[in-house]
Amino acid sequence: MEVYISANAFWALLISAIEVYKKECFGLLLGYRDSSNIYIVEHAISYQTANRRHTSVEKNGRASRRINRFLANLPHLSLIGDFHSHTGWGDLKGVGNLSSQDIYDMAPENLYIIITANDKRRSSAWQYNGDGALSGTVDEYHFKIGGYYLDEFSRAKRANIFCPYAIGFNAKESQQKILLRSASAHQRWLRSKA
Ligand SMILES: [Zn+2]
Repeated sequence: MEVYISANAFWALLISAIEVYKKECFGLLLGYRDSSNIYIVEHAISYQTANRRHTSVEKNGRASRRINRFLANLPHLSLIGDFHSHTGWGDLKGVGNLSSQDIYDMAPENLYIIITANDKRRSSAWQYNGDGALSGTVDEYHFKIGGYYLDEFSRAKRANIFCPYAIGFNAKESQQKILLRSASAHQRWLRSKA
C-alpha cells in the first residue's frame, strides 16, 4: 500500500503529537483512495475528547459515533483511517511498532498512522526509511511517521509513506540558508569595498 500525505496533514500530525507530547494523541485521517492500493491523506483531525495517557489513548465512544455520522456526510472526503502517537523521552524511547491493542483495533481497508515522537538527539533531514516510514526532526523533536494496514489475510503490514512536501521542506530550508548566507556575503563584500 502507498500512502501520500499532504502538507496540511503532515503538519497536523506533528502538531497533534506535540500538543499532548509525552501523552499520546489520537485522531482521524480524511482523504480518499485513488485505487485499492493508493491512499491519499488530505487532513488529519485530532480528537479532542480522546482519553490520553502516556502509553495508550482511547477514543470516547459517544463522540466517536457522532463524528463518524457527521463524516459520512462529507461530500468529497471520506474517513480512511486513524492515527495516534507513541511517545518517549530520555531513555524511554517511543517505538513505532504496533502494540497488540493497536493490531486488535485494526479493520480491513483502513489506514493506520503511528507518529513516534522522541526528544531529538541531533537534527536530521526528512527522509524515507527502509521500512516504509518517513522520519526527520523539527524543533526539539524527532518524528517517525509509519503507516499500517491489514492485508487480505488480516495480517498487519507496513505501508510506504510518501510526503513530497516533507522531503522538499529540507530543500527549502537549506536553500533559504544558502540565500541568507549569500546575502550576508554580499553585504560583507559591499562593506569591504566602502
Ligand atoms: Zn499504539
